[in-house]
Amino acid sequence: MDPALAAELASIVAAARAHVEREIERGAHSVPLASSLERLAAVAREAAPQATARASAAPASRAAAPAHAAPAPVHSSASIPSIDFGDAQTKRDKLNVLAESAATCTACVLHEKRTQAVFARGNPDAELVFVGEGPGAEEDRLGEPFVGPAGQLLDRMIAAMGYARDEVYICNIVKCRPPDNRTPRPEEGIACSRYLTPQLELVQPKLIVALGRCAAENLGVARAEGAWRGRFGAYRGITVMPTYHPAYLLRSPEQKRVVWDDLKLALERLGRTPPPPRKAGA
Ligand code: SF4
Repeated sequence: MDPALAAELASIVAAARAHVEREIERGAHSVPLASSLERLAAVAREAAPQATARASAAPASRAAAPAHAAPAPVHSSASIPSIDFGDAQTKRDKLNVLAESAATCTACVLHEKRTQAVFARGNPDAELVFVGEGPGAEEDRLGEPFVGPAGQLLDRMIAAMGYARDEVYICNIVKCRPPDNRTPRPEEGIACSRYLTPQLELVQPKLIVALGRCAAENLGVARAEGAWRGRFGAYRGITVMPTYHPAYLLRSPEQKRVVWDDLKLALERLGRTPPPPRKAGA
């Protein structure tokens, strides 16, 4: 088989597997064929040119192998316009500029059905940042990330780690709510990186916890196939621990133990130990 075609097919199979795993992680019991093919086509279009380029540069014996190279942020090769900070000098002023720009942004289709853009909550000087995938219905209504049931679970996870709710910083890959709470598409993550990239560079935490495969992929710490959570990666020099999204934990509480193991590793990397669990009734 033509090495370039083999590499392209390997990328498409990897994208299909990652898509199905992501849908299962999100609680799907079946995957609608039409929307799956539409998303898969988008992912394959993203992957195919890179795979073809890799194949033409690699020896034929290696070109047919599935892509196992270190992952990169999905937006790393795209040309993204940067936001003009104008006269803003301080970190907070620059973050405000980003938030104001996101509020009127029309760079991707997600602006069409949003109530408002949801930029972040918490402490911009935090050592620990949580990045989810996108706002849900409650977040879209209230303008704050992670305020629905999944957010309440995240708050309990943060407390268990020994942090106050507003001691950490919380944001999402995309700032506008995807319709029907679907996973943000690759092109939407790419478009919204004009906000996420400077946002994380300004906050400059010691560690990021990526919540869910979508966040992990957009931050470049998830491989296209196989296990993706529980192993440290890096985003622009910042340590990242990918783990399951709290919305998934609401549907699969038996996974809380592995997430807690991931969070304990994150705490260890931060040089902290979790506080002793509170006694019932205390
Ligand atoms: S999701 Fe991001 S890129 Fe898309 S319209 Fe909203 S702010 Fe703009």
